[in-house]
Parts: sequence; C-alpha cells; structure tokens
Amino acid sequence: MSAPAVLEHGVRLRLGGKVGSLVDGTIREGQGGPVPLQDPVTGLRLPGYADAGGEVARAAATGAARAQRAWMSLTAAERGRRLWALGGLIRRDAEALARLECANTGKPIRDCRAEAARVAEMAEYWAGWCDKIEGRTIPVPTGHLVYVRREPCGVVLAITPWNAPLFTCGWNVLPALAAGNAVVLKPSEHTPLTSVAFGRLAIQAGLPEGAVQVVAGLGVTSGAALLAAPEVSMVTFVGGPATGAQIAAACAARTVPCVLELGGKSANIVFDDADLPVAVQGAQQAIFAGSGQSCVAGSRLLVQASIHDRFVEALAKASRRIALGDPLLPETEAGPVCTARQFEHVSSLLEAGAKEGARVLAAPRGEALPKGGFWVPPTILAGVENDARVAQEEIFGPVVAAIPFTDEVEAVALANATRFGLAGAVWTRDVGRAHRVAAGVRAGTFWVNGYRTIHVSAPFGGFGASGHGRSSGQEALNAYTQAKAVWVETAAVPALGFGHRPPGDLR
Ligand code: NAD
Repeated sequence: MSAPAVLEHGVRLRLGGKVGSLVDGTIREGQGGPVPLQDPVTGLRLPGYADAGGEVARAAATGAARAQRAWMSLTAAERGRRLWALGGLIRRDAEALARLECANTGKPIRDCRAEAARVAEMAEYWAGWCDKIEGRTIPVPTGHLVYVRREPCGVVLAITPWNAPLFTCGWNVLPALAAGNAVVLKPSEHTPLTSVAFGRLAIQAGLPEGAVQVVAGLGVTSGAALLAAPEVSMVTFVGGPATGAQIAAACAARTVPCVLELGGKSANIVFDDADLPVAVQGAQQAIFAGSGQSCVAGSRLLVQASIHDRFVEALAKASRRIALGDPLLPETEAGPVCTARQFEHVSSLLEAGAKEGARVLAAPRGEALPKGGFWVPPTILAGVENDARVAQEEIFGPVVAAIPFTDEVEAVALANATRFGLAGAVWTRDVGRAHRVAAGVRAGTFWVNGYRTIHVSAPFGGFGASGHGRSSGQEALNAYTQAKAVWVETAAVPALGFGHRPPGDLR
C-alpha cells in the first residue's frame, strides 16, 4: 500500500473504540456480551463493543414512543422543515460519513460518497411529503360524512444489514419519520457506526430526542428484544431470507405488520441483438459494483447461446481491469467483502460452482492486497445450469453465474425459475421484446438496457422470497401509516336506535 493508504489504514484500525447505542440523545454502552469487529481489508481484529442487550433495547422502545408523541405534536410542515434540515446536515457531513462507512464496511470511498449524497436527497424527498399525506372522503349511501385519515403506526422498528448501512438507514428510516412515526433502528452488528452518526444528526436537525433511536447489537439478543417490545407497532426489515422468515413469524405472533426486503438472484438477460459493448459494461456493473454485495445484483447472467462464449470472454476481459484495492483510495472500484462469515460463504459457493462443472473465469487477485483480508476477485462462472447451487442460492459476492438460453420464451422461463423476485434486466434493441420480457419476469424492479439505478421516488421491493411491501416512493406511505375511517352523522334527526336503518348498513 502507498503511504497515504497506510495512514488511512491507521484510521481504520482506530474504529470501534467506543460504540454504543443512541437512546434518547445519549450514547449508552451495551450491557450484553462482546461484539467483535474485524477490518475487512486486513482481517485484523478491531476493538469491539458490548451488545446493547434487552434493557437498552426496551429503554429505546419506550423512549421512542414518547418521542413519537412529541414528533406528532409538531405541524406537518414543521416536521418537513426539520427533515429538510437533516438532509442539509447529511450533506455537510457527507465526507466524514463516507469515510466512516468506508472504513467500517470496506466499500470503496467513491461508492460511500455517492451513497451519503443519496441519503441527503432521500431526506429532502421525504421532507416534501410530510404535509402532503392527505385523507379522502367516501360517498357512502347512508348520508354520513366519511373521511379517511392516514395515521402513523407509532414506533417503527427498522432492522438493517451490513452491505450499505447508511443508505439503508436513510431508505427505511426517513419515510417512517415523514409519516409521523418514531423509529428504533437496529443496524447490523458489523456496521453500526454511520447509523449512530445519522441518529445524532437527526437530533441536531431538531427531531425530538428519541425519534431516531439506534440500538447497536446482535440480532438474536437486542433485535429479538426489540421485536418483543410492546411499543413497536410496525417492523421494516432488510436482510437475508432466513432471518426475514423469523422476523415475519415474530411479527405474526404479535399481529404487527412488517415490510420485508430480502435477498435476490436476479436475472440479467442479454439477447444477441443488444448493443454488446454496452451490455458488457452493464453486466459488470450489475454484479461487481459493491463487490456483488447488493440485493439487486445481476447474479444470474442469462446470455443467448449464440453469443454466450463471446460475451463471457469480453466480460472477463473487462473485469480484469476493475481496480480492486484499498477502499479508501479514490481510484478503487471494488473492495473486499465485508465480513469473515460472508467471505467464507462466497468462497464455499465458488468451490461448489467449480465442482458442478462451471468454467471459472476470474480476475487475478491483486498482488499488493493485504493478506488476511476478505478479498474475492470478480469471478464469472460460465456455462452454468439454472438448477445449479450457484444459480439458485444468493452468493452476495462478486460472482456471476452465466447461463445460456436459446429464445425469448426460454429466457423468461429461466429468469422466473427461482424462488426470488427482486430485480432483473433485459438488453435488446427490439422494443417490443423489451416490454414483453419486462412484463413476463416476476420482479419488483426491472431495467431495460440498464441496471442498478434505483431512486427514493420509485417503489422498491420484492416478489416471492424477496419479500413483500414497498419501502420507497408513494407506496411506502401506505406501509408506514394506517387508514382510519371516521363516520360523521349528517342527518338532521339522527336515526340512532336499532331498526331505523337497514341491517346491511350496520357492522
Ligand atoms: P441478516 O439477515 O443476517 O441480518 C440482517 C439484520 O437482521 C441484522 O441487523 C441482524 O443483526 C438482524 N437479525 C438477525 N437475526 C435476528 C433475529 N433473530 N431477530 C432480530 N434481528 C435479527 O442479513 P445480512 O447478512 O446482514 O445481510 C445480507 C442479506 O441482506 C442478503 O440476503 C441481502 O440480499 C439482503 N439485503 C436485501 C436488501 C433488499 O433491499 N432487498 C438490501 C440489502 C441487503
């Protein structure tokens, strides 16, 4: 590593010195067991922190309920102004947030900068919604005035993963706040730092202390305690499908609604009439951005058989040029994977792919990369069958399974031959085919001649095992509010007794 990189590395090693939960505006040390942290670049152990534990989690939920009442006592316009101010503070501190995120996750600084800017944009988008959450009136046949209010759920529990901690924090916390809720955020135990920083900025922006509580700790202890807290009235979860199923069961047991954003195995479909150089670039971005640790990653590359070999060779050649290295350097395009567990998971699936007969095309591992870190070079598994493990299981690393297909019907059938349904894309110059394939693939987000662009204003979520509910765009407001119908008698002489109205009008 170069001299500045070594200095930055020192910054990385100082992380984790003091990590606690943000409860009612104060950092509280955890009361549970130790949570170790590791540097993804070197694999070295960093100072860890104590798991929040049940008592801190319960205090966070109670404080959030109090703060939610304070938040709702403000006018809607004032809530909007304060969320807008939060956007400004995130912009002000974007560089510091990006560096913290980069050091904690191993994600390239250029991506971390872009994500911090996107979170500021999210705050401003949701600020605009605060005073536009309107009800409606319904022309019922009884003569009543019936109006519908959209009311906040109360305390929303947001549980997030480690791959894009600040981005996911903004994505899930801000719409809940805009809808008038308080939020208890439980970030991944591996990456709590920028979430705590976000919570502090919320207080600086004028949100009541406790409106954004951040509980730093493990899922099975602190997360479970939050799920059981009576104040929690809605849950939004981003993470793996197995954990998502547990969260859904816990919510069902308490009759609490939840939005689940889970994993994916998205099909990126390339037809032989596509602009191939552009499609090669798109395929790289689809899987290797964020070292493949992206829920929407185009991890199944369906390529028309007539161009399969040519296309994967071109992709391999282009992928060898990806700048893999120190995430804190501005030129770095790909960093290590984030955790030791994830590194083992990706490595074991790579082995499985080779055993199942895939042709392995990998970019060489950079010589200058520190030993012991969680480095996986961009890897293409060519000629894979769609029922192979590497084509069905989420790898969540820089590994793409290339699968040949013959025609449009087979492409759509293969794209849908997965339990997931998060995203997908088609590359073709045939406009009619592009729309047919977009309609045919079961996925919450679909791109035509592009990949990976998402925006806070558009709905995002999954079909099938990728989850349910939508966490962005107008659709999210339905998830974070509940409808209340208010019936107002308008008759001069109200018919209040039994028998004065047809029975069908009474419930
Ligand atoms: P994970 O499911 O292991 O953990 C996610 C969160 O759940 C963490 O905060 C964890 O502490 C918590 N948790 C774990 N067990 C819990 C329990 N019993 N009770 C309460 N909380 C619990 O996922 P991960 O490994 O952190 O992240 C990777 C996964 O996230 C991948 O599957 C990826 O596809 C998915 N993901 C999905 C999206 C999306 O929007 N669809 C976005 C990013 C990541």
